[in-house]
Amino acid sequence: MPAATGAVGVMGGTFDPIHLGHLVAASEVAHRFGLSEVCFVPTGQPWQKSDRKVSDAVHRHAMTLIATASDPRFTVSTVDIDRPGPTYTVDTLRDLRATVGPDRPLAFITGADALNQILTWRDHDEVLRLARLIGVSRPGHRLTPPPVDGASVSLIEIPALAISSSDIRARVADGRPIRYLVPDGVDHYIAKTGLYRDDV
Ligand code: NAP
Repeated sequence: MPAATGAVGVMGGTFDPIHLGHLVAASEVAHRFGLSEVCFVPTGQPWQKSDRKVSDAVHRHAMTLIATASDPRFTVSTVDIDRPGPTYTVDTLRDLRATVGPDRPLAFITGADALNQILTWRDHDEVLRLARLIGVSRPGHRLTPPPVDGASVSLIEIPALAISSSDIRARVADGRPIRYLVPDGVDHYIAKTGLYRDDV
């Protein structure tokens, strides 16, 4: 099999759970920026959010695999799950650079909100050297460019990102349907494992 070539999107997120907005965003960014592959990278554990406990990485990884399986452009990496301690994007990009080799440009894709905090990220200068940054946001969200060199940062509104992981978790906890908001396989996985049922 020939070695993969072309630019790689690195889609970083908690994916708790992954939903159709994430998939549409990855597909749209791949098209607009000519990426031959988008690698989904679920964040690692331990990873405590201030307001809630994040689901076990085993579940978030499984749902990401299920959701991306049918698209040949999409791959999944466990670099952030396998590395102990909190996830820093500089480590994600170093690990993926080593995996894909020196010749394929990297584009780090994530929520525009998260990207806006880039100046607080560990070694953010190196993050900017390792990859171009693409922030995706939901409709109506004010797109404020992060205060870094504009040439390496792009912001894109993705209408399908009206779907959010927090709304899906709330729906499951309330017994409301999530069909058509997540791939069927992810819907079935959540029902089978009981994820989010006891979220308050
Ligand atoms: P988050 O705070 O959970 O999410 C912030 C917002 O962005 C939410 O509205 C979320 O919507 C959205 N979002 C997150 N990832 C997305 C994606 N890939 N595509 C579209 N929307 C997305 O953010 P997070 O998941 O913790 O962090 C996002 C990425 O930034 C991760 O790869 C993380 O490692 C990295 N990060 C790095 C540092 C650092 O290096 N110091 C600090 C913070 C974040 P949904 O909930 O619907 O996804």
